[in-house]
Amino acid sequence: MGHPKQESTVPSLESDKPQGAQGEGEAASHRFDDLAAETLWDYAPAPETVSVPVADRQGLFIDGDFCPSDGKEFFPSINPANEEVLSEIAAATQADVDRAVQAARKALPGWAALPGHERAKYLFRLARRLQERAREFAVLETLDGGKPIKESRDVDIPEAAKHFFYHAGWADKLDYAFPGRQVRPVGVCAQIIPWNFPLLMAAWKLAPALACGNTVVLKPAETTSLTALRLAEILQEIELPPGVVNILTGGGETGAALAAHPKVDKLAFTGSTEVGKKLAQSAAGTGKSLTLELGGKSPNIIFEDASLDQAVEGVIQGIYFNQGHVCCAGSRLFVQEGILPEVLGKLEWRLKSLRVGDPMDKNTDVGAINNREQWQRIQDYLQQGRSEGAVLHQVGDSSLPDRGFWCQPSFFTGVQPSHVVAREEIFGPVLAVMSFRTPEEALQRANNTPYGLAAGIWTDKGSKIFEMAGRLQAGVVWCNTYNRFDASSPFGGFKESGFGREGGLQGLRAYVKLQ
Ligand code: NAP
Ligand code: MG
Repeated sequence: MGHPKQESTVPSLESDKPQGAQGEGEAASHRFDDLAAETLWDYAPAPETVSVPVADRQGLFIDGDFCPSDGKEFFPSINPANEEVLSEIAAATQADVDRAVQAARKALPGWAALPGHERAKYLFRLARRLQERAREFAVLETLDGGKPIKESRDVDIPEAAKHFFYHAGWADKLDYAFPGRQVRPVGVCAQIIPWNFPLLMAAWKLAPALACGNTVVLKPAETTSLTALRLAEILQEIELPPGVVNILTGGGETGAALAAHPKVDKLAFTGSTEVGKKLAQSAAGTGKSLTLELGGKSPNIIFEDASLDQAVEGVIQGIYFNQGHVCCAGSRLFVQEGILPEVLGKLEWRLKSLRVGDPMDKNTDVGAINNREQWQRIQDYLQQGRSEGAVLHQVGDSSLPDRGFWCQPSFFTGVQPSHVVAREEIFGPVLAVMSFRTPEEALQRANNTPYGLAAGIWTDKGSKIFEMAGRLQAGVVWCNTYNRFDASSPFGGFKESGFGREGGLQGLRAYVKLQ
């Protein structure tokens, strides 16, 4: 079912000048409008030419083989850019969960006993094979998830390969990672991942677990199982011993059954804070170790001494990248009062040049919203923001495709800290813009959230960076950049954004027992 074509009915900044928007800010806004009119033109379509066949039906990967589910239930995986069904995916039952956990248990002693350099060989092979098949994986990720092909091609797949390479390097150096300690694997790991970076999240979870000698049962998100299942083909190609990695497709029930399984030693979860809390309750008192990577409402703070063009580019990267489906998205923008008009003018101008549409077009900047539920959730937030009195701006091209799930990149001005759009994670391309006067006020407002995943600071002054970074309650603080990741750099949250780190030396800690 399609949506009616969405026309922008919201005002431009001209009709919503923030207080103090006269003078330089106003002039800047006009200059950018003129510039936009002069220099922007339509690109010719640049469709991705590689086509990737997808099996009509697919499902579980247990003990080294693709196998049918014990049950009869299948669910469709659709392309969110046109709502066409790509494949029918098996919904794993309790009996399937038992089989997968049993296979992982059986494989554990052999895998854990392999010398580190042997485990490293498998991880290197896996990384290389993923690189060789990178284009195929990028196309599949975009088809299934709706993200622009340039992102899956340039970010998701290369970063996933990097994670396997990086952790291959650790597999035979664990004694150096934890000097003076005896390092043992934790055991069988249940890993549950979301739909925003399907293959990359699988790599973040699998690579450290395998490097440290654990075995795994992985459950991808219901809307994005295809790249995880294709990764299973690579596991067969590299002849990973059967049972070391098992993949169970299915919805929340499958996830809950896996998380609650008594033979699971460790649970690693990335997703919503709501489900994270349930999993923490189910793991309590069982002796299972747990890491949670949950939501965020991250602040991006621009001081008046910042390089403003660079900062606005970082804001764009921070919130509109991957349709805002990023747990560490810079979804609250705090701008020092004196530069607010100029920043808003630059933001509006830059938004006009973002291309929203066909994710398979190499020019597309913003693709489709991953699923209908999430689309509806974003629409509800847009509505709620307006009804609470904030002003919505959607200034880009409003001609969105008829079918599929789309949301124009948006920002709110006139936002109060008490507004829902300033407090709750929207997980879409929606920015809440607010102002501040002093660094102290910026800190206080930035930290005024139950979350603490990431933050961004934009300033020319190193001293300000160090002072702010030390006092911001966030697992990652980016300075004069945003949304940069590296396999060697730990990532994780404070407060309701979860606990535990992924990546780097610190990320290994969750996958080892030390004596
Ligand atoms: P979610 O419901 O937390 O899903 C994450 C994973 O957990 C999926 O594999 C999901 O399976 C599974 N799951 C769902 N219910 C479960 C349960 N009771 N026990 C065990 N596993 C369960 O998140 P979502 O529905 O994908 O997205 C909702 C919100 O989560 C978003 O709006 C956003 O706020 C947040 N989110 C955060 C991140 C992040 O990286 N921190 C990523 C995605 C979403 P199914 O997908 O099959 O239901
Ligand atoms: Mg899909």
